Amino acid sequence: MSQKLVQYYLDQLKSRRCACGGKKQPMRSFCWYCYRALPQKMQWALYFRIGQGYRSAYEAALDHLGHGHHSELSEAAQ
Ligand SMILES: [Zn+2]
Repeated sequence: MSQKLVQYYLDQLKSRRCACGGKKQPMRSFCWYCYRALPQKMQWALYFRIGQGYRSAYEAALDHLGHGHHSELSEAAQ
């Protein structure tokens, strides 16, 4: 995973803005509302460290919630 992507996920984690546009706690992947909408398996997967499965867990969660992928970043990673 590129440094740019690692930084992106860290920034996303630290931010107070959820992918749905709502407010979230820093160091949480999603707001409570989105988090609760995920199956338990996906909630647990979000505790992986960045670079050790977090990215795929996060992308799967985005898909599940219908927020879509960050295509420009996915392309940069290849
Ligand atoms: Zn949300």
